[in-house]
Amino acid sequence: MEQIPRPWLNAYDPEVPATIDYEKVPLFRFLDRAAHKWPNRKAIVFKNWSVSYAKLKTMSEVFAANLKAAGIRKGDRVALMLPNLPQTIVAFWGVIRAGAIGVLTNPLYMETEIVHQFNDAGVRCCITLDLLWPKLEKLRDAIPVEKFYVTTIGEGLKFPLNVLYKLQAKKAGTTPKIPYDGKEVLPFKLLLKGRSKFTEEKIVAEDTALLQYTGGTTGVAKGCVLTHFNLGANLQQCQSMIHSLGRQRETFLGILPYFHIYGLTTCLTWPTSMGATLAPFPRYVPLDVLKGIHKLKPTVFPGAPAVYISLLQQKDVDKYDISSINVCVSGSAPMPVEYMEQFEKRTGTAISEGYGLTEASPVTHFNPLHGVRKSGSIGLPFPDTDAKVVDMDVGGEALPPGKLGELAVRGPQVMKEYYNRPDATADVLRNGWLYTGDIAYMDEEGYFFIVDRKKDLIISGGYNIYPREIDEVLHAHPKIDEAVSVGIPHEARGEIVKAYVVVKEGETLTRSDVIAYCREKLANYKVPRRVEFRRELPKTMVGKVLRRALRDEEVAKM
Ligand code: AMP
Repeated sequence: MEQIPRPWLNAYDPEVPATIDYEKVPLFRFLDRAAHKWPNRKAIVFKNWSVSYAKLKTMSEVFAANLKAAGIRKGDRVALMLPNLPQTIVAFWGVIRAGAIGVLTNPLYMETEIVHQFNDAGVRCCITLDLLWPKLEKLRDAIPVEKFYVTTIGEGLKFPLNVLYKLQAKKAGTTPKIPYDGKEVLPFKLLLKGRSKFTEEKIVAEDTALLQYTGGTTGVAKGCVLTHFNLGANLQQCQSMIHSLGRQRETFLGILPYFHIYGLTTCLTWPTSMGATLAPFPRYVPLDVLKGIHKLKPTVFPGAPAVYISLLQQKDVDKYDISSINVCVSGSAPMPVEYMEQFEKRTGTAISEGYGLTEASPVTHFNPLHGVRKSGSIGLPFPDTDAKVVDMDVGGEALPPGKLGELAVRGPQVMKEYYNRPDATADVLRNGWLYTGDIAYMDEEGYFFIVDRKKDLIISGGYNIYPREIDEVLHAHPKIDEAVSVGIPHEARGEIVKAYVVVKEGETLTRSDVIAYCREKLANYKVPRRVEFRRELPKTMVGKVLRRALRDEEVAKM
């Protein structure tokens, strides 16, 4: 097996082990352990409701028992189409405790995306929210679901908030009437009734815990087969890399969506393993988040660049006390260095950037919290994680430091395969390595830098252009709020660069201003030939700009 040297981790932080003795247990054992160690600690707080670790464990057992009684067997696929709510946390643990396979579904999915995902995974049971029912009801004949369990946002809240929620929803006329029939459409609360009289399934660490869909914005979404071990290994890696967390009681802000693997790990499974309090937010509204931080005093804030940037743009950031936050971790997209510095100046809290992908459950790299952080870098590989940069076309051996190529990773967190897609699996998993499709380089000290996505690379007149470099330059402009550059087809040059720019409120900027500014900072062939001003940029729920969507729009116009 190819040996990759990994000397750096311990050199920067001697407390991070180079290798971990993994516990090979089903994922829900991490909840059980927390319940055993800290039975009375708050596991979840949501508005005027909270639950202890001991109670959360019991709730998940009852949930699993009821799922089994309803005919769900080990290996059956159960979709959770829910925003971040306490019910989502209970359902997540209940589903995997029952031995079923979780299919986490974005509540904003459009009909074709739901039909594809549910059929591809073979979803038998779906747990959802009343507000999403109209979308699902229309699709009943097109999806294989046999049972739906429906909850509401206010369900579980205590008086008077539960009543208030009901009244508000009634007044707004937003709550659809759910046609409960006792057979196929059932109230969620049925899954929480009774005692946990169930014999636990024999679940081993190698069993599949999740079919986690990815790639929907760049092609057909594929299900990554993630085992209990993959997911458990990743949270043990997170813990050993950020080892100071959990020594005190932590509260984790739960803004990142649980249905995305990054949100699931950093806001749900990993904090659970350290007995932290989870504070779910069903919707991301920057002002509510600031108020939430002020009130709940969370200590850890897992975020994404778009989240940190949007908080900075709130006029009254300084009115709220956010000093309780000790750790901010950013991932899922490149964090523009400019904004990272601004955020740190305004809040006094450092952001540590990491990197991962669904296929790796997800985290593979992180800037050591207790060692040297390099801005613009995704940091060092996790313990037991090998990473190398290889030639973009031929793959193979590791290239020397400083050379650009495709990032490949290897470790216990890497998925088993794409569900039912041997060809797609063979494309990305080769000789035990996961080829990430990201263009990167490693510096002399072993830190990795993502330059771009392989698919986002712009080739103009024979030159390779990495759009991220242009984006960084645009972000640094004092009048630009957000910007993204894409390659659009061009007859003579193959592609040319087009920049989409959002101007800061109250500022004005012209196309020629942008071009003249870029000319000062970039080689001529990288300067955008086209500039379009927008009020906002299209983004995914975790704040990734949908470059492809912008490019597709352009292609459609031609
Ligand atoms: P997903 O599977 O949705 O988690 O997306 C994974 C992709 O997000 C990676 O392959 C990268 O392209 C991108 N990504 C994640 N973290 C970072 C980061 N810190 N910097 C740049 N790109 C990132």
